[in-house]
Amino acid sequence: MRFLILCFLIYIGYRALKALMLPGRFSSRHETRQEPAMIDDIMVKDPFCETYFPRRSGVKEVIDGETLYFCSTMCRDKYLEQIKKARSSG
Ligand SMILES: [Zn+2]
Repeated sequence: MRFLILCFLIYIGYRALKALMLPGRFSSRHETRQEPAMIDDIMVKDPFCETYFPRRSGVKEVIDGETLYFCSTMCRDKYLEQIKKARSSG
């Protein structure tokens, strides 16, 4: 049991040391990896319903080499349908 307590203390010490090494990052609940979450969280516009939403939660679709993001798969399908119709009509 004492060994476990010792391990725990070492772990706490390690965490404290890490916090000291990274000033201003005390509240980092994320573990080791610090990915640029800000870049991932930009707002994009759904080309179909014109709603803005965080890109991360959107549906990604590459159309003609262009990457588009939709708020839902429903919007994506309707948008694709629209394109198809526009193309077939000329
Ligand atoms: Zn939409």
